[in-house]
Amino acid sequence: MICNNCKQSYDDNLNACPYCGAAKAVTDNIPPQQYGQVPPQAYQANSPAKGTATGSLVCGIIAIAIGVFVPLAGLILGIIALTLGNKAKCMLPADQRGMATAGFICGIIGIVIAVIFWIINAVVAASMLSYLYY
Ligand SMILES: [Zn+2]
Repeated sequence: MICNNCKQSYDDNLNACPYCGAAKAVTDNIPPQQYGQVPPQAYQANSPAKGTATGSLVCGIIAIAIGVFVPLAGLILGIIALTLGNKAKCMLPADQRGMATAGFICGIIGIVIAVIFWIINAVVAASMLSYLYY
């Protein structure tokens, strides 16, 4: 078998080229219309989940950005990102969970940043108060 893409020869039993990943040339016994029918339906079924995943990622990024300045807002957005990310992960098939997972992780980072800066703010406020009093 010679790869159509990179011209390397490889084992006939493989379904794809091990050098560049290009699929083996399609043989005549598979009707091409079988490929065309499935993706639009799958896309339709997954689009609300994709919206949820996008929302999760956006909330997570904003949570990280805002958590430094307004820890309470960052905490709330982080929890929203975590909830949406988790929901989207349940709705999407395993190979399409990238954005949902990213949103989930951003939510966790957002919450951690919010908590850390909340503590820093409290410590700074306490040390400023003690500086004023002593
Ligand atoms: Zn190849």
